[in-house]
Amino acid sequence: SSSSPSRMADSEKEATEAPSIFDKIIKKEIPSTVVYENDKVLAFRDIAPQAPTHILIIPKVKDGLSGLSKAEERHVEILGYLLYIAKLVAKQEGLGDGFRIVINDGNDAGQSVYHLHVHLLGGRQMNWPPG
Ligand code: 5GP
Repeated sequence: SSSSPSRMADSEKEATEAPSIFDKIIKKEIPSTVVYENDKVLAFRDIAPQAPTHILIIPKVKDGLSGLSKAEERHVEILGYLLYIAKLVAKQEGLGDGFRIVINDGNDAGQSVYHLHVHLLGGRQMNWPPG
């Protein structure tokens, strides 16, 4: 299929595998405010919060997941786990009145960091449709 790494153009493979700023956050080479961490995932506060609570939840091992559009069947477990952790962190943050999960993918969605991340937003009324 066109999403299999062996059929990707070199430039696309590079974007998929290339390190991002989140690798430095995982290695604590760049400081962040960590709110949850275990061997599989890291959750930390977004540096430019778009809501009173704005947290990013990321897999510690990228494994080609530069974005959701690169997901393969082997990623199913970590994808589900990221949502489960988002729910735990939402509770930890006191977002009992609701929260929003966002995954931006690619240029049209405004994705700016190519290491899969789940946005957890809350603490204010969210709008629909999103911008
Ligand atoms: P995207 O636009 O790719 O969906 O989300 C990337 C997010 O990462 C943005 O909301 C941006 O504010 C956040 N971000 C980018 N660089 C850093 C950083 O160095 N530290 C933290 N905590 N967040 C960052």
